[in-house]
Amino acid sequence: MIPVSLPKISDEEKQAVMRVLDSGMLAQGKEVEALESIFSKFCDTKFSVATSNGTASLHTALFAAGIKPGDEVICPVFTFVATANSILMCGATPVFVDVDERTYNIDPQKVLEAITPKTKAISVVNLYGQCADYDELKKIAKENNLLIIEDAAQSVGATFNGVKSGKIGDVNSFSFYATKNIMCGEGGMVTTDNPDFARRALLFRQHGQDGKVKYEYHMLGYNYRMTEMQAAIANVQMKSVDKFTNQRIENAQKYYEGLKDINGIILPHVDERCKHVFHQYSIRITDKFKINRDEFAKYLEENGIGYGIYYPKSLNRYDHLKEFGRFDYRVSDILCNEIISIPVHPLLTADEIQFIIDKIHAI
Ligand SMILES: *Cc1c(COP(=O)(O)O)cnc(C)c1O
Repeated sequence: MIPVSLPKISDEEKQAVMRVLDSGMLAQGKEVEALESIFSKFCDTKFSVATSNGTASLHTALFAAGIKPGDEVICPVFTFVATANSILMCGATPVFVDVDERTYNIDPQKVLEAITPKTKAISVVNLYGQCADYDELKKIAKENNLLIIEDAAQSVGATFNGVKSGKIGDVNSFSFYATKNIMCGEGGMVTTDNPDFARRALLFRQHGQDGKVKYEYHMLGYNYRMTEMQAAIANVQMKSVDKFTNQRIENAQKYYEGLKDINGIILPHVDERCKHVFHQYSIRITDKFKINRDEFAKYLEENGIGYGIYYPKSLNRYDHLKEFGRFDYRVSDILCNEIISIPVHPLLTADEIQFIIDKIHAI
């Protein structure tokens, strides 16, 4: 089976974890600090705050931005559930809007239509590794006095007009879950240039303590700390971030070449302002293709090819979220029936990619 994602774990990661275990210092310490400074440098931000996972990081970022009960936060309806759940965790209301038919990212025009006096922020997902249309989103945010939070879980290393993901929004959030482009099993990171947001994130992560005076609680906080084992893995991974990204882009290029001109299959659109880092290579199996998406998925499986369906349902179609669906979600609903991600991770061999291309052509 060719898996749809596979973490690259070398001896260096293993040794790094062993070094931490041998040191006896397992909770948030020097490795976490090192990761934060590596991340600030990588994203060109003033501050980075590491967390236990990407959902904790989103919760922390939203809290840091001042999102509170009664506020509305606009987010795409076509995303992972944590984008919406983190808004609920702040006691705020997610307001779902539809996505753009070409990029699958939040549609700025739909954002404009969803703004009310209660709207405080837009939680923007850079889906599959490509940034959303921040030219439009920033204009809208500025005119309406809204904050932008990047849900950058899938977009480490991506850029928009040359600016790194993690620096584009006012306060931003990454995930290092096992399948993400940079991973450490579980982990997250908040990035920002805003010192007030950074301090609030820092306090929120650790019971309201700022790390200077122990048992001095400045406010309510959680325990969202990252462990030294997690940080040790991520620190090694970050050495290869550009190599991993380039490998993903190269793999995607092979698919563009090998799968072009197939009637009924739509390949990912790359916005010319973006560097797409291909967290996923997601194609659309439309009704013009010979078989439908579910049959296509079954066919891949029978041929030993892993796949993912991100995502099977628009978020407004889940019980705990349906009350937040105020609009129609035509594009998202179509995508949920047509989208499928094929393996694009850096460990794929050229032969495996060719095998996948040939198998698709065989249909
Ligand atoms: C992975 C992911 C998250 C959550 O990250 P976890 O580390 O799994 O908690 C949030 N948003 C998006 C878009 C994701 O892909």
